[in-house]
Amino acid sequence: MALSRRDAMKFTGLAAVTVAASSGYAKGNEGGAKAASQSILLSPAPIPAAKGPRVVIVGAGPSGLTIAKYVKKANPKVDVVLMDKRSVFMSGFISNLVATGVLPLDFITHDFLEGARNGNYTFLQATAHEIDRTSKTVYTNEGIVKYDVLVLAPGIDYDYSKWTKGDIELETALRTKFPGAFIAGSETLTLKSKIENMEGGVFVQTVPGGNYRCLPGPYERSCLIADYMKRNKIKGKVVILDENPNITIKADGFHSAFEKLYKDYITYMPSTTITSIDPNKQKIVTELGEEIDFTDAALYSRVRGNKLLEIAGVAKDSVFNKGEANIDPFTYQVIGDKNVFCTGDVRPMGFSKSGNTANTEGKIVANNIVKYLAGTELSQKTWTSPLTVCYSAVAGDPMRAISVHAEYAYDETKKSFGFANAGTMEKWDGADGLAGGKGLVEWGKGLYRDFFN
Ligand SMILES: Cc1cc2nc3c(=O)[nH]c(=O)nc-3n(C[C@H](O)[C@H](O)[C@H](O)COP(=O)(O)OP(=O)(O)OC[C@H]3O[C@@H](n4cnc5c(N)ncnc54)[C@H](O)[C@@H]3O)c2cc1C
Repeated sequence: MALSRRDAMKFTGLAAVTVAASSGYAKGNEGGAKAASQSILLSPAPIPAAKGPRVVIVGAGPSGLTIAKYVKKANPKVDVVLMDKRSVFMSGFISNLVATGVLPLDFITHDFLEGARNGNYTFLQATAHEIDRTSKTVYTNEGIVKYDVLVLAPGIDYDYSKWTKGDIELETALRTKFPGAFIAGSETLTLKSKIENMEGGVFVQTVPGGNYRCLPGPYERSCLIADYMKRNKIKGKVVILDENPNITIKADGFHSAFEKLYKDYITYMPSTTITSIDPNKQKIVTELGEEIDFTDAALYSRVRGNKLLEIAGVAKDSVFNKGEANIDPFTYQVIGDKNVFCTGDVRPMGFSKSGNTANTEGKIVANNIVKYLAGTELSQKTWTSPLTVCYSAVAGDPMRAISVHAEYAYDETKKSFGFANAGTMEKWDGADGLAGGKGLVEWGKGLYRDFFN
């Protein structure tokens, strides 16, 4: 639940003490750390005053980056502030190819400021800690930012509760030693170094239930790690523990790659429910009593909506995951607060949680925000479908990839969305797979261009 304004003041005061203790700003201030730091946090963030209606976007992933650029494009008079806690952009998509050494790290690493310069908006490197929707204020570690329209696009958090039952020590050990590597950044670097230092043995890759981020991602990664082992003559095996009864997408393509390319390197275990994980003994026990000793692992837990939604009082459990956005699925506006939009991987609709979906959806939402600011009521009639396009590499050298594309349609009877105009290309061998590999690289470059140029 959201804090009251009074609680928020208390909260920012408390948080300020911590900031001031390590901040050069408080140095020499006789009035004490708390007073000095409160003035930092409760004063406006160091950005120019708004010169038009202000749209503040929290989260500069594929969703936030696209919305910032396309709101400005649709109406340059709108003042846009894009905020992210990170200092550089690193994409989740294509990160499996970086972790396995097929592509360099700088392929997925990009400069937020380039996007701001080219898109003519303000980038603020700051963490949103609290949101007061009554006074339309975002509280950040850099100060306060007022908005007319707020977009929350903070992406996912992990939900370890099924595995840890609230044991925080266990959760911290799993996050630190065997991160899922489905939130790009340090986790990607950990995975990369695990693979680079791999000497053999069993590498476990888990696949969660629910609508997790990037359905093909864990299978793609398993293929690429197996490919790495094969190419480097490492005696090892990837064991895939899948909570689902079958590969969740592009099943024919992945099954045939497992069989034909990686028979000795991949063991696929569907319908596997994990009952315990011992991060010290490196042992997993399943519901059926199987015991899996592992040398290393990427333990991908279930996902949930980013906890910032709870802080803002806009979270609701969806049929898929905990704490996703409580929005009108056609307009992306929070139920009961039309000035707040939630987009990207926090949406509760069963769309693919993927970069291309967030990008195409972002363009639609950006245009709708501009219309809304001009006084148009958004509704089901103004909804159009985002487009999911997703390539998955099944081999790195030469790169071979399979792909899927789909739109979505609303089923009035079932009151839910389903795929529309969907198709897959699952032939990884021969010319199709090689063309898929080239397509994957060009698709990635196209997204980066769209975010930053
Ligand atoms: C290994 C892997 C493989 C993938 N493969 C594919 C693929 O092949 N194809 C595809 O289309 N997609 C793929 N994806 C998925 C894709 O990357 C995500 O779906 C996409 O990034 C979601 O975009 P988003 O903007 O909603 O969230 P994110 O990209 O998570 O961005 C959210 C941003 O919000 C910021 N943030 C969070 N909280 C705060 C706060 N309180 N204050 C300030 N900033 C905050 C974060 O720092 C982050 O930059 C893959 C992802 C991974 C990890």
